[in-house]
This record gives sequence, structure tokens and C-alpha cells, in this order.
Amino acid sequence: MSTVIIILLAVLGAALGSFFNVLIYRLPRKESIVYPASHCGECGKAIPFYLNIPILSYIMLRGKCKFCGAGIHWHHLLVEIITPVVLVALFLQYGLLNLLFLKYSILCMFLIPIIFIDAFHQIIPHKLSIPLIPIGILLTLIPGNDVTLVNSLVSAGIIFSFMLFIAYAYRLARKVDGLGGGDIWLLTAIAAFFGLISMPYVILISSLLGIVYFIAFVRDKDQGFAFGTFISFTGVVWAVFGSSRIFDLIPFM
Ligand SMILES: [Zn+2]
Repeated sequence: MSTVIIILLAVLGAALGSFFNVLIYRLPRKESIVYPASHCGECGKAIPFYLNIPILSYIMLRGKCKFCGAGIHWHHLLVEIITPVVLVALFLQYGLLNLLFLKYSILCMFLIPIIFIDAFHQIIPHKLSIPLIPIGILLTLIPGNDVTLVNSLVSAGIIFSFMLFIAYAYRLARKVDGLGGGDIWLLTAIAAFFGLISMPYVILISSLLGIVYFIAFVRDKDQGFAFGTFISFTGVVWAVFGSSRIFDLIPFM
């Protein structure tokens, strides 16, 4: 039975990944996400349905447009692979008939597009971050949640105030915006989902990942830096491993 569920989730995940590629391309360009149908970003030719099969089409076409030969960026394939992997991992962690499977699937399906949109464009679309805040809070009203309503509200409130404070302090000190508004909404949403005790860890891990990346690949301190990518990545990992279960592994928690 679970093999059938895994196959179905993998197919669903690949299809969602394909849709996320549309979001990743169109949301930062403020294009409609439904019209026109999928087309090559280079020559504009519509992609026929038989060339729009997640993962397989990319491999068959060797990452090139069939019409003009323009390269299709490798992240398209990556998104179509990690989305099903994350869905299946969430199923294996929580089981299908568990509210936490639904809750963390919703969270990850918003975070995956944000990882790539922020990485490529240094923006976190409000359409993706802000709706997560009421969703995370309202989900606590359903029995079986790992976070209470009060925890979710307090966590979101504290993280929002903390981030706002950091953003103002940075602006006062450096006279430029260090934290984007997008980062504030994103971290507030993640706080509403995970509750307060997870947040120091999520912030610490995403900051460390970001700093390592910055030192290894960027170095130019004036260059924009996609913190939202690291926050979202950490959020996905934290959801997949299960925050309550991670704490079981840490002594004295
Ligand atoms: Zn083309």
C-alpha cells in the first residue's frame, strides 16, 4: 500500500515541481501564472504537452529547447526532483493520515519555489510568504498539530518584532537596508508553523549556511544576498526531519 502512495506522491510532486518552475520564472517578472501556456523563454514557442513531462522531457531534450536549442537552466530539473523527494520524505516521516503530513507539505510547497526565486532574483514574493502566516496559525485549531494556537501566535509575534528590530538597527548602523521585508514575512510564517522553541535553531542554521555560502562564493559585501533561500532551505529540512523529533535527538531538551 505504501509503495502505491509513494509512487502517487512522486508523480504529484514532479507535476507540482513543474508548476513551481512556472512560478519561479513568472512571479518575479509579474507575469500571469496561468496564461500564456508554457513557452520557451528564448524563442517564445509554446511547449507541446508531450514535451512538458516533468523530469523526462528535460532528460530527453538534454536540457535544450526543441525549437531553438536554447539551454534550459538545470534548476528546472532540480525543482522537479526535489519536490517529489520532499513529499515522499514527509510521508515517510509522518504517514499519510497525519495532520503534520498535510501541514508540513503545505509549508514545503511554498518554501521550495521561494528557495529558487530568492536565489535568482533576490525577492521573496509576498504572494508566497504572507498567506503562510494565517495558514500556519489556523492549522493549530485542528487536533493533532504539534504547535498550540498560543505558541503559534506568540512565536510569529516575537519573530516578527525581532526581525523588524534587526532590520531597523541594520539600517541605522549601515544606512542601507540589510534585511528585505520579504525576509521578515517569511521568517514570521515559518515561526507560525514551527512554534517558538524551533526558531533559534532555524535562524542559527540558516545564518550559518548563509555565512558559509557568502564566504565561499560571494565575498563582495555590497552584493545582494539571498537570505530567504537559506531560511526556506532550513525550513524544508526542519519540516522533513520533524522539529519534535529533532529535539528528541538533542540531549537535555
Ligand atoms: Zn526556444
